[in-house]
Amino acid sequence: MKEKVVSAFRPGSTTEGEEAFALMKKLFPICRSITGNGVRETLKIIKEKIPVEVHEVPSGTQVFDWTVPKEWNIKDAFVKDQNGNKIVDFKKLNLHVLNYSVPIKKTVSLKELKEHLHTMPEHPEWVPYLTSYYKENWGFCISYNEFEKLREGNYEVFIDSKLENGSLTYGELYIKGQVEDEILFSSYTCHPSMCDDNLTGVVVLVMLAKKLLESKHKYSYRFLFIPETIGAITWLSKNEDKVKNITAGVIAMNLGNKGNPTYKKSRQGNALIDKAVEKMLVDSGSPHTIIDFTPSYGSDERQFCSPGFNLPVGALMRSPAWDFPEYHTSADNPDFVSVSSLDKSFDMYARLIFLLENNETYASLNPKCEPQLGKRGLYGAIGARKSGYFNEIALLWVLNMCDGEHPLLDIAIHSKLDFEQIKNAADALVEKGLLKKA
Ligand code: ZN
Repeated sequence: MKEKVVSAFRPGSTTEGEEAFALMKKLFPICRSITGNGVRETLKIIKEKIPVEVHEVPSGTQVFDWTVPKEWNIKDAFVKDQNGNKIVDFKKLNLHVLNYSVPIKKTVSLKELKEHLHTMPEHPEWVPYLTSYYKENWGFCISYNEFEKLREGNYEVFIDSKLENGSLTYGELYIKGQVEDEILFSSYTCHPSMCDDNLTGVVVLVMLAKKLLESKHKYSYRFLFIPETIGAITWLSKNEDKVKNITAGVIAMNLGNKGNPTYKKSRQGNALIDKAVEKMLVDSGSPHTIIDFTPSYGSDERQFCSPGFNLPVGALMRSPAWDFPEYHTSADNPDFVSVSSLDKSFDMYARLIFLLENNETYASLNPKCEPQLGKRGLYGAIGARKSGYFNEIALLWVLNMCDGEHPLLDIAIHSKLDFEQIKNAADALVEKGLLKKA
């Protein structure tokens, strides 16, 4: 028997952080990229939790103004000094290789080696994460401290990678609800061994999908696990017929750091998703930041919000990646994120689902003057359930604004009362025959 989404996603009712963290640690060592076996292995592990469907799109496929690139795979890579010591080893940390490096095997001078080394002097212990997807190149990323130790001499560089025709891999899970209107949740699976950006987004969505599969819900839900940018462009180009059903959408990213929630609005700016996330954050009582849509930074909301689609899709994160120095470095590891942040992030997404699922529109059955609440036991009865005073206020708001035009979210925003309280009031009024669904 499936639990109703109303109870499954009631605020504060969930603790998924531990399981999400364990899944993140399992996915952490895999060397991912925008294509290749790392993505397939990641989706295979996700499949142990949810029945995600794996799609392969051949290299060379035209997707709007872009072309699906050649597939990249890597087995090993290192740099050896003249004594044969491995001074850089891909097997110890996959960030050491410039992601998408072409194969190379040669002996180089220190000068030539340095042309292919990338460091981060401002954080001398960290290894930066860099990519070269669309320009064939090779390189290594090392800490500045290691770079400083290099001495004149010859070095052996070896990258055992393959860049050849194959496909781009992504995962998709569609969970049918009572209506065709759907909520889109998307996250990106292209980053190698880093946590906050963006395994945390992936694992929170996996846990959310798992919970939805066990629940009854009104909306249909679509989950995408795609490589950033090229994956979103590919999905949109192959699914133009499906986007009309997207009622609301969110990109999940940076959900494990210790910062407070941040929401980047959709391009529309005042869509249902924008109002719902803002109200959810206000109700949660957590300090938070709301930022306007911008096409200049962020993630796949940039593709979903391109003018030809202009979908109601925002991005819900904790501290945005551009706010922390660990972003795209070896310091974004399991120590940088926490179970408690993942827990809070899951709760935030669960609250959002609770709000969207329960955002019904009602009409009062007693619209001429206020109904007499006392004779129906509505003074005090609700009060016993939760802080009475505000619930009586909530009853009055619901009775007044339920004219068949205002959904509960609008009433909650307008009255400045918690959405949950407004919903409780509506439930009580339906029970007493004073309200019906419009
Ligand atoms: Zn990133």
